[in-house]
Amino acid sequence: MEVTSNQFKQEASKALRNPVLQKALGHIEEGFVEARNQAARRLPEFEQMRDRARDIKAHAIDNLGFYLSQFEDQVIAQGGQVHWAADAQEAREIVAAICLDQGARNIAKSKSMVTEEIELGPYLEAKGLASVETDLGEYIIQLRDEKPSHIIAPIIHLSKEQVSDTFYEHHQKHGYFDKLTERSALVKQARSVLRKSFMNADVGITGANFLVAETGSVVLVTNEGNGDLVTTIPDTHIVVTGIEKVVPTMDDCHTLLRVLVRSATGQDTTSYVSFFTGAKRPGDAAGPSNFHVVLVDNGRSDMVGGVNHDMLRCIRCGACLNHCPVYANIGGHAYGSVYPGPMGAVLTPQLAGVEQAIDLPNASTFCGKCEEVCPVRIPLPSLMRHWREEEFARHLTPKPMRFGLGMWSWLGRQPALYRVVLSMVQRVLGLFAKRGWVKHLPMGTSWTLYRDMKAPKGGSFQQQWRRR
Ligand code: SF4
Repeated sequence: MEVTSNQFKQEASKALRNPVLQKALGHIEEGFVEARNQAARRLPEFEQMRDRARDIKAHAIDNLGFYLSQFEDQVIAQGGQVHWAADAQEAREIVAAICLDQGARNIAKSKSMVTEEIELGPYLEAKGLASVETDLGEYIIQLRDEKPSHIIAPIIHLSKEQVSDTFYEHHQKHGYFDKLTERSALVKQARSVLRKSFMNADVGITGANFLVAETGSVVLVTNEGNGDLVTTIPDTHIVVTGIEKVVPTMDDCHTLLRVLVRSATGQDTTSYVSFFTGAKRPGDAAGPSNFHVVLVDNGRSDMVGGVNHDMLRCIRCGACLNHCPVYANIGGHAYGSVYPGPMGAVLTPQLAGVEQAIDLPNASTFCGKCEEVCPVRIPLPSLMRHWREEEFARHLTPKPMRFGLGMWSWLGRQPALYRVVLSMVQRVLGLFAKRGWVKHLPMGTSWTLYRDMKAPKGGSFQQQWRRR
């Protein structure tokens, strides 16, 4: 996985200064946070469902080998094939080999974070296979040669005007020369361009939200219906998904679907919930003759039984991103990984190596909101804290910071001196305060550059405690 976390601070600064991005990120609150809250309020048993969802995923992960093997048997029994990919390279090779074997030239893809993780698109392109993203957001970023900035809303960083410019630039070759301004017109034009990609596709590639072990079914949720077109028109359907998506039964899947959709978009259900079970049978009206499932490990089995074991419960709803104050200010691209926000801050160091991604778990205020809203109750702050401990233990922290932390720790063990220093710091901060706020600190510009700090008032915590 390509991670540019080393540029995290620069990218985050750029994002904070980008007015278009800032305006776009402003929609998260009403678009996702409020919608999720309302959906949760509409369902009195929502909290119990979250407990049940956590238990289902925990049980599935604790028995991963058993359920994956059951799933494989069922897929084969339904006329499909299962391929096991140990890493991203193997997964890419398997998919390309299936496509080339079928003599495919054109591929239609529906949205899949795992295919982003393994960077499948560029690989297929290098093999001469034209793959078109058919989810509207993914299609737009493919045209713009960008990465998704959110796991369920890949173009959350873009304005309508930017989308209009993109279509104006890329759709002229399809005979569209007008600059469009209305959302509905943009959608209509994209639909008409994409229609040809669906009709010409030799292979359809999708991800999966869940894999049902008892039936061998692959479950996919979309709001655009493109997943159904990608899988019913071409003769070959390839599912590329992570091994952690397996759940024991269809009932379990339904529970998870109910918490997934409410946590993700605040809907009671998505517009399309598709169940794909094996290849086309005699008498079926539609469906692919060839049904392949590529189960991607890529570091996941290393997480089983380890400190990040709980992270395998993640159902990629995006709620932790939507409620994260850091994500809400810098967006997804600054994270340098396909998995941004709190879930990415845990997952990316695991998948790409902690040395590559140590800034990510540090990009958290530890407010705990991510854990509060996670439908499968993943303790995200504790898992991020683990990476911070790992960073310190491996001496990855920059020397000045290690020195500073060492001093702080030493000072904390000298109560009298600590109190003197603290009171001096309060006085110095007071010198820079105006009307109760510190807006500029000569030695701490990176703190005050983007927000003001409340001036210290009423003494330290210990002083206040003594007064009580
Ligand atoms: S960690 Fe939880 S909240 Fe975040 S994407 Fe995964 S399931 Fe959703």
